[in-house]
Amino acid sequence: MKIISINAGSSSLKFTLFEMDDESIIATGLFERIGIEGSKYTIKYNGEKIEQEIELNDHTDAVKILLEKLIDLAIIKSLDEIKGVGHRLVHGKDKYSQSVIITDEVINDLEAFKEFAPLHNPANVLGIKAFKEALGDIPMVGVFDTAFHQTMTEDTYLYPVPYKWYKEYGVRKYGFHGTSHRFIALSMKKILRKENFKMISCHIGNGGSICAIKDMKCVDTSMGFTPLAGIMMGTRSGDIDSSIIPYVMEKEGKNASEVVDDLNKISGLLGMSEYSNDMRDILAKIESGDEKAKLAEKKYVRRVVDYIAQYYVLLGGVDAICFTAGVGENSVPVRKDICEALSCLGVKIDLELNNKRGEFVKLSTDDSKIAVYVIPTDEELLIARDTLSLIRNR
Ligand code: ADP
Repeated sequence: MKIISINAGSSSLKFTLFEMDDESIIATGLFERIGIEGSKYTIKYNGEKIEQEIELNDHTDAVKILLEKLIDLAIIKSLDEIKGVGHRLVHGKDKYSQSVIITDEVINDLEAFKEFAPLHNPANVLGIKAFKEALGDIPMVGVFDTAFHQTMTEDTYLYPVPYKWYKEYGVRKYGFHGTSHRFIALSMKKILRKENFKMISCHIGNGGSICAIKDMKCVDTSMGFTPLAGIMMGTRSGDIDSSIIPYVMEKEGKNASEVVDDLNKISGLLGMSEYSNDMRDILAKIESGDEKAKLAEKKYVRRVVDYIAQYYVLLGGVDAICFTAGVGENSVPVRKDICEALSCLGVKIDLELNNKRGEFVKLSTDDSKIAVYVIPTDEELLIARDTLSLIRNR
């Protein structure tokens, strides 16, 4: 049975078409610069890559062309072969704790919650509507980034601010990357062959978050009301003292959202290194002796270690620590530095095995007190799995 996973952004649409009988990928692709000059698509299938500039006025255009190309390129014979569409949805507030069949109510909620994810929720709605227009009544499933974190308890998700901010304005920790953290927890369940274990999932990419998981449920996570909170990221600061905001507003003659924009877009690795948000560039600069790059990597490692330490105590010890996403799956020196800082907890890794990139590997040695793994994340597959399971059980 074929299922398509969709990740719609404000000017892009990514897709993965799966054959769910064996969970293999049939095709993947990206439609970018939607509604902007220079729009184009890339489709990869059967070891081939097709790239073409094409006018894409909106998401409906992108979906129309995507479906046409799947037929033209003989990737599928007929649209009937696609039995379901799974959408990555960003913000389900505290209403959605699981994936759901997309109904008008879900679409209305996405629109109602747009204040909480102004770039993402409207884009998700565009993606859903475009598929509705193209494929009519095809079953569609929504998989929320926030859903996995709904098991956090009140003492965790509340901020120590006036309670009214929570009650009246919805100010609380929501958490993000939930689909990735859930994928990692499910992978660990397979590895450990049990459900009752404690782990820390480190999704460290350009964006990044750490998640404390007990018995397959999220206990705490580092992102908060928005994805700006938590660890240092490629361009995001992560946690800072909020009084910095009015201070910089005054210094630079900016308003609050401009300074928050700076914290989202020109901080993190980019801000500290004054060079790049990409860990590969930072590591190359360190090789050439650049001090700011060194400092940026040191701070990045420190923030991850701070969260792991915090969650180690919160969970009362852990069975496993898992690395995933761009940096977690590929960055050998960053993993090494993080694990070295955790040696006081009895973490020991095999430096030879740590040289592997982008693949599943158990890094920890037999005498390590905590098992350490690299597990490549696959949010698209989890979206397709949820889609299949929900449409089968309708
Ligand atoms: P996003 O949050 O945009 O999904 P990714 O998970 O793709 O981000 O992670 C991007 C980050 O992963 C970048 O900082 C990039 O440098 C890093 N990365 C990817 N491949 C490597 C590599 N081979 N070595 C070091 N870092 C890598």
